[in-house]
Amino acid sequence: MRVVVTGGAGFLGSHLCDHLIARGDEVVCIDNLSTGTSSNVAHLLEHRRFALVEHDVSAYVDVDGAVDAVLHFASPASPVDYAKMPIQTLKVGSLGTHNTLGLAKAKGATFLLASTSEVYGDPLVHPQVEQYWGNVNPVGPRGVYDEAKRFAEAMTMAYCRYHELDTRIVRVFNTYGPRMRPNDGRVVSNFIVAALAGAPITIYGDGTQTRSFCFVDDQVRGIVALLESGEHEPVNIGSPEEFTVTELAEIVLETTGSESPVRYLPLPVDDPKRRRPDTTRAQELLGWNPSVALREGVQRTAEYFRSLGMPGAL
Ligand code: UDP
Repeated sequence: MRVVVTGGAGFLGSHLCDHLIARGDEVVCIDNLSTGTSSNVAHLLEHRRFALVEHDVSAYVDVDGAVDAVLHFASPASPVDYAKMPIQTLKVGSLGTHNTLGLAKAKGATFLLASTSEVYGDPLVHPQVEQYWGNVNPVGPRGVYDEAKRFAEAMTMAYCRYHELDTRIVRVFNTYGPRMRPNDGRVVSNFIVAALAGAPITIYGDGTQTRSFCFVDDQVRGIVALLESGEHEPVNIGSPEEFTVTELAEIVLETTGSESPVRYLPLPVDDPKRRRPDTTRAQELLGWNPSVALREGVQRTAEYFRSLGMPGAL
């Protein structure tokens, strides 16, 4: 297949590019390098089946030649990033989704949207099933990401129904692993980087809020299984194992052997209290289950940050 991956130089996108190249696909990676970096795909740059195009998909997207699939992964995804880039986040989720759907339609390609557990907002249904419509504050600081992705899902379904485009929607739950930026701002990288530096682990709020953390290799396997399925309705991909933020801090401290102190900071506005995917659809439709336990994933992510020369990379 010839596959366009937007956001392909980002954390998740670059692992997706690796997977597609390894299975023999040709990959056109489009990224504006705002939160992604060419170092994430440096090892692919000389590959004859890989090309990196520096472009912002919020503007018209043009790709020469045949395309079999368009995977739209471009967007800031850390709450810290989308708070810093609110307009760009809204644009890439809305205009970027429209442009990349247009590309898929012009090429007769399958389209896959990277959506998010944030479409459920601060959920009132637990665990989150795909049929749940969510509890999102449209005018809060997270609304720029949440509403952009909700619009992106609506636009994707409209292209599916009206243009009969072959589409997929993956709702990605908290995913972590190598190639997260040390200053990404999300909890797993923040905790590991702090632990390796002996700096305070920053728990926001009282640490009782929960998340379910999926190692990036498992996430990529789920996304590719969804791409290969014929499923148009959204599918959650994430770990069904739920941890409090305090438990995560303990696991990071144990795994790294760090003696970092814990510092409590205020909880960000609209921070979801509980999050865990119901993965029944992923299991039944795709035969997908995650296989990397949190401790092992934290270990592998810590090795990556050590390889960057942490704490110097802070
Ligand atoms: N969090 C934290 N300390 C940090 C970073 C995040 O306690 O240094 C908390 C955050 O408030 C949230 C959870 O960890 O409750 C997950 O945050 P993250 O930014 O990773 O992603 P989210 O799931 O909120 O999009």
